Amino acid sequence: MTKHLRYSGDCTLDLAADLKPDIVIVGSGMGGATFASALADSGLKILMLECGDFLPHTPDNRFPATIYEEMLFHSKTPWLDRNGNPFVPGNFEWVGGNTKFYGTVLYRFREIDFAERHYDEGVSLAWPFSYSALQPWYEKAEILYKVRGQEGIDPTEPPGPYGYRFPPVPDEPPIAELRRRLQRVGVKAAPLPMAVDIDGWMEGGSSPFDQYPDSSLKGKMEAESCALPIAASNPNFKLVTKARAAAFRADQSGRQIERLEFDYGGASYSVNAKLFVLAAGAVPSAALLLRSGVANSSDQVGRNFMNHIFSFLIAVDPWFRNTSRYQKTLSINDFYFDTNDTGKSLGNIQLVGKLFGETLRFHEKRAPRFLLNWIAEHGVDFFLQTEDVPRPENRVTIKDGLIKLDWHRPVISTHLTMVKRAKRMLRAAGFPLLFHRLMDETIPYHQCGTVRMGADPKSSVLDPNNVSWDHPNLMVVDASSFVSSAAVNPGLTVAALALRAAEHVRKLLPQL
Ligand SMILES: Cc1cc2nc3c(=O)[nH]c(=O)nc-3n(C[C@H](O)[C@H](O)[C@H](O)COP(=O)(O)OP(=O)(O)OC[C@H]3O[C@@H](n4cnc5c(N)ncnc54)[C@H](O)[C@@H]3O)c2cc1C
Repeated sequence: MTKHLRYSGDCTLDLAADLKPDIVIVGSGMGGATFASALADSGLKILMLECGDFLPHTPDNRFPATIYEEMLFHSKTPWLDRNGNPFVPGNFEWVGGNTKFYGTVLYRFREIDFAERHYDEGVSLAWPFSYSALQPWYEKAEILYKVRGQEGIDPTEPPGPYGYRFPPVPDEPPIAELRRRLQRVGVKAAPLPMAVDIDGWMEGGSSPFDQYPDSSLKGKMEAESCALPIAASNPNFKLVTKARAAAFRADQSGRQIERLEFDYGGASYSVNAKLFVLAAGAVPSAALLLRSGVANSSDQVGRNFMNHIFSFLIAVDPWFRNTSRYQKTLSINDFYFDTNDTGKSLGNIQLVGKLFGETLRFHEKRAPRFLLNWIAEHGVDFFLQTEDVPRPENRVTIKDGLIKLDWHRPVISTHLTMVKRAKRMLRAAGFPLLFHRLMDETIPYHQCGTVRMGADPKSSVLDPNNVSWDHPNLMVVDASSFVSSAAVNPGLTVAALALRAAEHVRKLLPQL
C-alpha cells in the first residue's frame, strides 16, 4: 500500500487569518475529515475546529492496561445516564475522532436497510432515498479508505461497483479452518471488508485491534491517515486543534447561522462563515445544537438516538488451537435478511481482533488466569450486532451543563434470537463451549440518529442533502444524520453521506 501522509500544518489559531473562512467544519472524524477531503480541489477557505489533539505515538498505545483499565484515551468529561449517574462514555476526542480507535470494518448498508422494516421492538424507518443514491459515494469512500474486500461471496451484498482496490486480508490457518467448518454446516462466511494495511499494523506488534489506536498511521485506514492529508492538500485548509465549538448563533431573522462561538486556549472566540458544517459525532453534535438552541423547529434534535445492540461470543473447541495473531477476516450475514426460519431480519456477525488471556482478564476479573488463557488459546472471538430502532424517548439532553444520554435499550428479543442462532451454528461447526456477554449501555460506539435527515421538516432535522431545514447555511455530516442504524458498522455510511453532502455544497455555496 502507499505510504500515508501525516498532517503537518500549523494547528494553532491565527486570529488575523483564520476567522473569516468560507466554511467552518466542527470535528475531524469520519464525517468532518471525509467532507473536507472532498472539497480539497475547491480552493475554498476551510477552517476545521477539533476539540482533541493529535494522538501521541507511544508504545503504551498497545498495552491492554492503557486501553481497558486506565481508559487513557476516553473522553474525560462524563456523561449522565438515564438515572442522572455520571459515567465515562466509550467516546473519543482526538484528531480523527472515533476512527482512531475503530475496528476498520467498512460495510455498505444493505438495500433493505433504506426501506421501512418492522421488528418486535419497533419500526426501522425508511430513508428519504434508496441505496442507489448512495452507491457511487460508497464506492468513492471505499477507495478513499483503501478498503480490502471481495465481491460475490456475501449473500446480502448490495449492487456494485465496489471500490475494493486490494484483496481481503488472508485468513491465518486457524481462521481458514473455522471458515471450512462453517462452510461444512452451510454457512456462507464471507471476507470482512476492512480498511487496514495489515503489515503496517503488525509492525506495532501483535495486540488486539478494536479500541486500540493506530498512532503510527501505518495500519488503520482512518480519518487522520486517509482523509485529513487530502483535505490539507487544499492550501486554504486549516485545522485548529484543542478548539471546542460551544454554540452556533443565528442572525436576527433566525434563519441564517451568523457565527460559531468556540473555546480555545482558555478564551472564547467566534468565527463567521458562509457555511457551517457540524461533524462532532452523533451525541456531541446533538448536544451542541441543543446548547445553541438552533435547528430544532421539529423538536427532533437529540431524539432517536440509536446504537447497535452488541454482544461478544467466544466459541471454544478444546481440540482447536487459535494461534492466529490477527483473526479479524471473516463475517457472516446469513441471518441478515428475512429469509431465515425466524421470519425476521436479524443481524451481522463478525470476528473481532484476537482476545488474549491477558485481555480477557480486564473483563472477567474473578476468573482464574489459567482458565482465561485456555479459553483464548482454544477460542475464536465473535462480535454480534443487531439493529437498533429510532425512538423519540431515546435521547440526548443537557442537564447541569453535561450531556445526558437516555437510552432505554430496546427490548432485545431480536438480538437474543440471533445469539441463539449463532450458538446453534457454532455448536454445529464443532465449538461446544460458548461464552456470551452483552455489551453494556455506556458504550455508544455506533451512536447515530440524533439529528436525522428526512423528507418532512416536521419529523426530521435535516433535508436529504444533510442541510438543516431551519438554516440553509448549516449542515450536519456525521452519524447523527442517520435515519436508521441498519445492523452493519456505520463508518462507511458516514463517509459516503459526507462525500455526497460535499458534492451538494458545490451547488449550494453560490446561493449562500
Ligand atoms: C472502539 C470503536 C470501534 C469501532 N469500530 C468500527 C468499525 O469497525 N467499523 C465502523 O464502521 N465503525 C466503527 N466504529 C464507529 C465509527 O468510528 C463511527 O461511526 C464514526 O467515527 C462516526 O463518525 P462521526 O464523524 O460521526 O464522528 P467521529 O468520528 O467521532 O468524529 C467526531 C469528531 O468531532 C470532535 N468533536 C466533538 N465535539 C466537538 C466540539 N464541540 N468541538 C470540536 N470538535 C468536536 C471529536 O473530537 C471527533 O474528532 C467504532 C467506534 C469505536 C469507538
